[in-house]
Amino acid sequence: MSNKFSNSELEAFLDESLPVERMAAIEDRLRSDDDLQKRLTAINGRRDAGVHSLGEIWRRHRLSCPPREQLGSFLLGVLPRDASDYLKFHLETIECRYCAASLGDLKAKQTAAEADVADRRRQKYFQSSVGHLRKQ
Ligand SMILES: [Zn+2]
Repeated sequence: MSNKFSNSELEAFLDESLPVERMAAIEDRLRSDDDLQKRLTAINGRRDAGVHSLGEIWRRHRLSCPPREQLGSFLLGVLPRDASDYLKFHLETIECRYCAASLGDLKAKQTAAEADVADRRRQKYFQSSVGHLRKQ
């Protein structure tokens, strides 16, 4: 299978009139291929649809969001390079509201969990000093 996509294929992609595997192949390729993103945006800009940014194209075509676990790994900084690049692209270029909301939610949970650990550590320290005082 060729990795090159013709302009007419990209047009068909925008119309969602390509075979499913071809749609998926383009979608997959778009995540890492800047040139392809630019070409698609340019083709779309020439149309009368009134949709001009890649983000709009993405949202309009509901191109896939990364799974929530990936957002969690991203926050922890343990996501492999390519996955984390895609996530940045998804959040910063596409400005996906859903993932931004999920990420905010996960961040809040993570902060709460950290606070909880610090709290428990403090409590433990307190208890051990109380125990120490009692022994005296
Ligand atoms: Zn998303």
